[in-house]
Amino acid sequence: MSKLLIGLTGGIGSGKTTIANLFVDLGITVIDADLVSRDILNHDQNITKQLIEKWGSGILDSEGKLNRRVLREIVFNDIEAKRFLEDILHPLIREKIKQMAFEAESPYALVVVPLMFETHFDELVERVVCVDLEVEKQIERTCLRDRISEELARKIIDAQIDREERRRLSDDIIYNCEDPVLKKKQVFELHQKFLKMVNHG
Ligand code: ADP
Repeated sequence: MSKLLIGLTGGIGSGKTTIANLFVDLGITVIDADLVSRDILNHDQNITKQLIEKWGSGILDSEGKLNRRVLREIVFNDIEAKRFLEDILHPLIREKIKQMAFEAESPYALVVVPLMFETHFDELVERVVCVDLEVEKQIERTCLRDRISEELARKIIDAQIDREERRRLSDDIIYNCEDPVLKKKQVFELHQKFLKMVNHG
């Protein structure tokens, strides 16, 4: 059982997955909130039923499963629809994350939540680590990884909390620099800090 749940956040392309994998290398259980969300949407019949009642069977694909692309489009420009979905989905995601963290066998567990502050998931964790990067580098790495235009990358970033605010709200910051040694050093130092927190209450 993990005694401590740490949150990890950062803007798109900042390096959350890359940094989270370094914690995995140190034996830490990493929970991906996006995967948890996807799993619930794919398997929770009760959710599917509520969403069909709200938006009709057009949200299903040819196999009768929720079509997440259609769902994304519905909630993209509609705040009321977004809130409806989040109100039924978020409590289940939170419960599942808590359960997974409870069952984790590492001394502490890490949950990766891209929109940590925007969705108030920071309330679920003891501390938030922010993966930080200059916006221009975020754009560069996102465009390379996802093969999208600079314009789209900027649009996605503009829809997220801004860099300074994210840094201000976080307890710890990892700067995702190119230097692999420096990157690992920051992760290792935080790892030691969290282990101390676990061992000394
Ligand atoms: P996120 O999960 O925050 O969206 P990723 O971890 O997927 O970000 O990183 C975004 C892209 O940048 C990936 O293609 C990754 O390989 C690359 N990347 C991550 N960290 C670094 C780094 N320190 N230096 C150079 N490229 C990096």
